[in-house]
Amino acid sequence: MNRRLLYTVFLAFICTAFLAAQETTQESSDSQSQNEGVFVSAKKIKDSLYYLTYKNTNAVAFLGRDYTILIDGFDAKAAPKALTTAGRLSLNPVRFLINTHHHKDHTGGNGFYSQSGVTVLCNQQVYNNIWADVNASELQDLKSQRAELSNAMKSAGKSEKGKELATKYNTLSEQNIDRALSYSAMTFFDNFSMNLVNETIDFKNATGAHTSLDVYAYFQNNNVLATGDLFFNGKYPFIDEDFKGSIEGYLKALNQLIALCNNDTVIVPGHGPLASKSDLESYKRMLEYTQKGVQMDYLLGKSLEEVLANKSITANFDAQGYGNGYVKTSEYVRMLYRAAEKRYPRRK
Ligand SMILES: [Zn+2]
Ligand SMILES: [Zn+2]
Repeated sequence: MNRRLLYTVFLAFICTAFLAAQETTQESSDSQSQNEGVFVSAKKIKDSLYYLTYKNTNAVAFLGRDYTILIDGFDAKAAPKALTTAGRLSLNPVRFLINTHHHKDHTGGNGFYSQSGVTVLCNQQVYNNIWADVNASELQDLKSQRAELSNAMKSAGKSEKGKELATKYNTLSEQNIDRALSYSAMTFFDNFSMNLVNETIDFKNATGAHTSLDVYAYFQNNNVLATGDLFFNGKYPFIDEDFKGSIEGYLKALNQLIALCNNDTVIVPGHGPLASKSDLESYKRMLEYTQKGVQMDYLLGKSLEEVLANKSITANFDAQGYGNGYVKTSEYVRMLYRAAEKRYPRRK
């Protein structure tokens, strides 16, 4: 084969590869991909913005001029499929993954992304929460060791033995928070922005809402808002009380989100279909209505069982399917009842 022919063959190969890549892009722009029972779909929101869905959980892919950015990456099982799907949306590589919060359905794939050359970015609090969640039994072990030492310190008093125990106790306390994950992640503490060609993405925090810290992202030019789990569209929200989430914080977060929107904003919730500002507003009204209903019953002296039996509080929303999601109606009402108890403790 002479040089010229070789060159022509090479060119032809490049063109075919390019066309194939383009085709795949077209195909996956609105289709489902299959891999050992894992389905990740990619749907277009705007020219450079897609949302990926796996089992009713959403992630967002922004196709920048130079690289693709993912907001959330699903669990470990779906991550490989999600990365391939996002990679096929453009000719650029996926370079950054930003976590909205620590739950595994959003961060379980972090290790895979990190190993695949994607830089994982998360808030320091989210990072600590991931560690605490992944290593729950280890953390429990540290806590019980600490409790034992604390008792021993009391009996040893101010003696040398007591001091020695106190040092050990402090080390254990630090270990509780300063643990490393098995993959690299860059952490940030505050709101921040990514200033890209043709787009600015603002990342902001909400505290004590769905978890102790949730991050949401607003794409200024595209006017798209990715809420993470600060919005379970059409379902009662899960509020992680073990990780300092609360209904009061959740409502505050919804106000923050609503303030960012206008009537054209496209909202990608953590779970459920795409939404508009008015959907978000009616979601907030649903939360307020049910919260006030449960609180009122509680203040009238009703027991949890009595409130659970009072179906009128949630009937309207149950009929719309709000209780057929992650959180059943009774669990949601229990959470609201606990919140009321916390807010207005009964005298014993
Ligand atoms: Zn969550
Ligand atoms: Zn979730």
